[in-house]
Order: sequence, then C-alpha cells, then structure tokens
Amino acid sequence: MDQSKIDALRSQPVQPVSHLIDGRQVAASDGAMLDVLSPIDGCVLTRIARGTAADMEAAIASARAAFEDRRWAGQPPAARKKVLTKWAELIEAHALELAVLGVRDNGTEINMALKAEPGSAAATIRYYAEALDKLYGEIAPTAGDVLGLIHKDPVGVVGAIIPWNFPLMIGAWKLGPALAMGNSVVLKPAETASLSLMRVAELALEAGLPPGVLNVITGEGAVVGETLGLSMDVDVLVFTGSGQTGRRLLDYSARSNMKRVYLELGGKSPNIVFADAPDLAEAAKVTAAGIFRNSGQVCVAGSRLLVEASIHDRFVQEVVRAAEAMQVGDPLRLETQIGAINSEAQLKQNLTFVATAQQEGGQIVTGGQRILSETGGYYMAPTIVTDVTPEATLAQQEVFGPVLAVTPFKTEDDAVRIANSTVYGLAGAVWTSGLSRAHRMVQRVRTGVMHVNTYGGADGTVPLGGVGQSGNGSDKSLHAIEKYINLKTAWIKL
Ligand code: NAD
Repeated sequence: MDQSKIDALRSQPVQPVSHLIDGRQVAASDGAMLDVLSPIDGCVLTRIARGTAADMEAAIASARAAFEDRRWAGQPPAARKKVLTKWAELIEAHALELAVLGVRDNGTEINMALKAEPGSAAATIRYYAEALDKLYGEIAPTAGDVLGLIHKDPVGVVGAIIPWNFPLMIGAWKLGPALAMGNSVVLKPAETASLSLMRVAELALEAGLPPGVLNVITGEGAVVGETLGLSMDVDVLVFTGSGQTGRRLLDYSARSNMKRVYLELGGKSPNIVFADAPDLAEAAKVTAAGIFRNSGQVCVAGSRLLVEASIHDRFVQEVVRAAEAMQVGDPLRLETQIGAINSEAQLKQNLTFVATAQQEGGQIVTGGQRILSETGGYYMAPTIVTDVTPEATLAQQEVFGPVLAVTPFKTEDDAVRIANSTVYGLAGAVWTSGLSRAHRMVQRVRTGVMHVNTYGGADGTVPLGGVGQSGNGSDKSLHAIEKYINLKTAWIKL
C-alpha cells in the first residue's frame, strides 16, 4: 500500500451524512445534526443526522413494506446471490476510500482497518452470497402416510445495532446473513462510527439491492436505538456492544413484542501462558498485539495475562519490551501499530481504570498515561499492570482500552479457576507444548473461542459468540444464519 494514496484521501472534506430510508438520503425530521469529531486530532470531521423516533419509525415502516411485498425475499436465490456478490465487489473496489474514511471517524490504525474493515466486510458478504443457494430445507423422517417438510423462512424485519470499533466488519457479520436469507434490515451504527457504514449501504443500492431492504438511521442510541428496540414491527434484534446496552435491549423486547434478541457483548479474556509454551518470545509479542492493537478496542482482546509464576518476571519483561516497541500515533500512517482511542470519553474511562488499579495494589510497569496530547487527538500509551488480584476491578471489568492486567498462577487448576472467575466468556488463549493440556484447557475455560499457541485471527468459517454475560448466539460461519430464519413445518397428509 502506498502512503501517498492515503495522504491524498485524508485531506478530502467529508460531506454531512443523512439517513438512508427507502433508498433515499433523508435529513432528520427536525433537521438536527450531530458533530463528528475525529479522534486523530479532536477536530470536527463532518456532521451526521441526529435521528428522531419518527425517523426510526419511517425506516422500520420502509423495511416492513419491502419485506411484505417480497421485493427481495421473493427473488430467486441466484438473483440475490448476484446482488450480494456485486456488493462485495464494490466494497473491494472502494476499499481504500472506505478504510481511510472509517479511520478518520474511529481512529483504528490503517494497516489493521484495511484488512479488518472493507476486506473482511467484503469477504463476509461474499461468504453468505455463496452460501444462500446451497441451503436446503429438510424432509422429516415421518410415517409413510404423511410428509413433514421443514422450511427455512426469513424472519422479517431485522434491527441491527452496531458499535464503533469495527463498524464494517461487525456490520457485515449482521448484514451478510440477514440479507442473504431474504430479510429486510434497519441498521443503527454507533454515533462515533457511522460514516463508512453509510457509504457501504449506498454501495448496496448501487449493487442492485432494492430500496427499503436496507435502511440506515444515524444518531443517539438512547433515542433511535430505543425506538428500534421497542418497535412492535421489528422481529429480531441483533446487537454488538456493551453489556449495559444489551440489558436494555432485553428489556425493550420484554416491554414490546418479545422479539428475539441476540447479543454480542464484552469480554475480559484470559491469555494463559504456561512455562512450557513452545516459544516464549513469540508468545510475548503476540500477547502484546492481542491486547494493544486497535488500542485494545477489540471485544476479544486478551486483556488478562495469566502467567505461570515460575516465568512471571521474565515473561512480563518480554511483553513490556514488545509493548514499548509498538508504534503509537497517527492511525493514517502505515507504520502505526496502535492508533487513537475512539473518543475523549473513552480515553478518560481508560485512565480511571488505571487509577483504580493502582489504588487496589496494581503496579504499572509501562504506560498508564495519555500521550501525544499536542495533536489534539486521543492517544494512550500501551499499559501493563502487574500484581492484579483475580478479584480486582481491573481483572473483573472490561476496560475496552490498551490496558493489560497481569496475574500469576501456580497450577493448571489455579489457571482455570482464575480464568473462569469473571461474568464474561468471550475469548481466551492457552500457550503450552502439551497437547493434552491444550485440549484440557480448551474444554475447561468457559469462552466462545479459545486460541492455542496464538491469539486472534479466526476467520469467517468459525462462529464467534460469547457465553455468560458475553452474550448469546453467534456471528460468522453458517451458524450465524440460524438467527435470521424461522423454521416452519408443513405437515401434509398423503
Ligand atoms: P455501546 O453499548 O455503548 O453502543 C453500541 C451501540 O448501541 C451503539 O450503536 C449505540 O448507539 C447503541 N446504543 C447505546 N445506547 C442504546 C440504547 N439505550 N438503546 C439502543 N441502542 C443503544 O457499546 P460501544 O461502546 O459502542 O462498544 C463497545 C462495547 O462493544 C464493548 O463492551 C465491547 O466489548 C463490545 N463489543 C463486542 C463485540 C463482540 O463481538 N462480542 C465486538 C465488538 C465490541
């Protein structure tokens, strides 16, 4: 990738963003807009429509009409596949523009954004495009005088609410299977990461997705997100974000039409390093990358390092060295390994967690402070805190920032007990040369995904979902499709 191409795009003005309703760009019903601040320098980048309840209701009505007249669900699978494939191609053709726009909005380092955002979004949409004409219904093993058919119907109108850390990747995890199965979608991006998703939605229209099948409403979660959650006309809510908002969505469902709610929430994922790890130097580097890339704003980040006591000091030193070698700064420079924190509020929250950790006996061995404040942007040094007890706030609560909590353990049972001692269960890793130990740890640590001798990088062929308060249901792989279909039985007397 050529830095000069990125530099040319970064200086282009960003047009204000309206909602997308019924295939048209529509301003907020009261004309209100929200300023979008770039985390790179804290300056106003552009403005987005500040959606009202009426805007959201209009989007839901449009999605419902599109579903009921079957303008999408009624098309032959081959036709839907063609549109989605074209959409993936358009995302690839606009990859650099989308990545740079997204980085100016949310602060992720560009070398990661290029892969994880347009690249991954296009791959996801193509995956479900290719899958949709290979999914058969079933014939039940009934007695001979009846025929039992099991149909896989679309559910109807899907409400999708998305966070700010990887808007295109996570957006595509919802949109790919939802649209492939013939549903209509109303999408609500995060306030601080709407721009690239809106552009991707426009590309869907260009690819031939009929108007109304995908509507996007920008604005505040407490207003438009709540209207979506409480709607009597939304059949399924799919969400990625914080546990706090996840609870609200369950409540909205209970207070309205009992719509299905699938939650992908936070984590406090344990990265467990045994003394018999095959390559401790490699483990240290991957451990640092596994928590510090995208400034720790990764749901599966390995935010707890559990390290066998016999190698604790030596291993921590290696991780500190790896962390200090990582380049923090302008996320639009290709050499940057750790970009900006998404917002000033998030940066303040990270620093509060560090202060609390110190009050509870944690020792900061590197980082701990805001840096590069002269840029006006929101940057934080990668931070490692040792002497964190399993009960400490830093071991129990998700920071969603570049802060690693280190806790020693003595035995395998000890490691499992500490690993399983939070309310979360999203991801984790074990580093060991012992094949049996690796399998035992995969079985015993309660998570949705467990890595062995690596951290992160699982592709679209495997599911990602949490257990406990990390959520329910899965994104990615063919399993994600289950969220977007209803099984319908036809019982036919012969
Ligand atoms: P958040 O819950 O604050 O916001 C997520 C979305 O919910 C945003 O679009 C927001 O506008 C909307 N929202 C906020 N209040 C709402 C309300 N009252 N009603 C309806 N919608 C509302 O989360 P965030 O800060 O954007 O994202 C960070 C969180 O997301 C972290 O906890 C992180 O772990 C989690 N996350 C999880 C995964 C995963 O796959 N499990 C992936 C990425 C991020």
